[in-house]
Amino acid sequence: MAEKKEFKNRFSWSFSRDNAFNTCKRKYYYSYYGSWGGWNKDADELSKKLYLLNKMSSLPMLAGTIVHDEVERTLKAVRYGRNADIVKSKENVIKVFKQSWAHSKNKDWKDNPKWKTNLFEHFYNQKPTDEVLLDIRDLMLNSIDGFFASDSYRFIQTMSDSQWLAIEDLDSFEVHGAKLWVKLDFAIRHGERVYIYDWKTGKVAKENEVQLAIYALYAQQKWNVDLKLIRLFDVYLNQQLPVKVKPTNRLIDSAKVFIEKSIDSMKELLTDVENNKTEIDLFPVVGEDRESYPCSYCSFQTVCFD
Ligand code: SF4
Repeated sequence: MAEKKEFKNRFSWSFSRDNAFNTCKRKYYYSYYGSWGGWNKDADELSKKLYLLNKMSSLPMLAGTIVHDEVERTLKAVRYGRNADIVKSKENVIKVFKQSWAHSKNKDWKDNPKWKTNLFEHFYNQKPTDEVLLDIRDLMLNSIDGFFASDSYRFIQTMSDSQWLAIEDLDSFEVHGAKLWVKLDFAIRHGERVYIYDWKTGKVAKENEVQLAIYALYAQQKWNVDLKLIRLFDVYLNQQLPVKVKPTNRLIDSAKVFIEKSIDSMKELLTDVENNKTEIDLFPVVGEDRESYPCSYCSFQTVCFD
């Protein structure tokens, strides 16, 4: 009988991992080491709790996920020749939001933290005002409007099925001796060129360009395409603003340096690099109370301060 493969916590790098590392070392430890294995029924109580907290979402995060899922559903409908309908899409996002809200309020996540929404606002009794909820609704509906009105959507509709390269596919590639996880929102080939899109529901941010540069590095390796033939777009749906980013050698080189430095800093805090092991004491907390930044937004508050 074939031996069961061991599911090991191997070192890998992602943009969100770097973000956690720079926000608070303790948060990083909880997210990538302390919560590991917390999905197992026989895991210790702390790991289970950290796993559950690590899966927590927030209202803006939930809105972003719902919009991404709806854009993906719409594009797949287009791909297979089905009708895509903006009215239906708007109904869908509201329906899914209400379902997720109910899951969170009823604590359905207790038995299924991976698939059932657990909102920060519910968990920490921060009842959102009606105004906040209306803003979230507007963000989702405006983003759907923004997607259907976008040049990107019009362009994609003219493409055939055979030109599709990726849609929300999780994949990895190697950089600086580490596995690097990427999930491209959408990529398509047109002639010799490869077009890569990242849908955004948040504010315009310059650092998003680094993420696109990472996608360009991936595309270079995955589809063997020259940098000059890659077109990168951050599409800010809520603001109806497409931002075209040129994958210049300078941008790609600075992204590589950024990743390498980040990986080196993370590995410096490992006690056993080969087996990706470390100890909690190497990861200090960043705040002194739950009201201070970044603790006031952090899902691990209850472990640090209760
Ligand atoms: S609550 Fe504050 S100190 Fe604790 S993990 Fe989060 S950010 Fe770090």
